[in-house]
Amino acid sequence: MLNSEQLSEFTRNSKLETRNSSFYMDEALAEARKAQAAGEVPVGAVLVGPDGEIWGRGYNQPINLADPTAHAEILALREAARQAGNYRLPGTTLYVTIEPCLMCLGAIIHARLQRLVFGAPDPKAGACVSLYQIPADPRLNHRLEVQGGIRE
Ligand SMILES: [Zn+2]
Repeated sequence: MLNSEQLSEFTRNSKLETRNSSFYMDEALAEARKAQAAGEVPVGAVLVGPDGEIWGRGYNQPINLADPTAHAEILALREAARQAGNYRLPGTTLYVTIEPCLMCLGAIIHARLQRLVFGAPDPKAGACVSLYQIPADPRLNHRLEVQGGIRE
């Protein structure tokens, strides 16, 4: 049982958590708008470090870069890994506007992200909950926390 002081602290932390997720998802949505303006499928992502800073940003641009791997998530991971000087990014959280595909989930697992937060599910290509449920596969060594359905 929590006493009233613990309860109010818990409530305060919950609000902070909500505000943070909402803040980062807004940043991801701003990236998605860049993709839309560029005539790409509107997907945006930001990679947040354990310090709460945004380490990497990306928006979908496979058409303009003539690169099938240029998804928002991959571009955000690349920028963050360059910043960190490390191909592994433990303790980080990726915020992305749409449920990631198989390729991006693979990269997310290789990079050892701690947490993934996505907006709308993608019934056609989503590899978290829709088409595949990769994070729930017990054969994988790495455990990824997943939170979906944020602002569908
Ligand atoms: Zn992808």
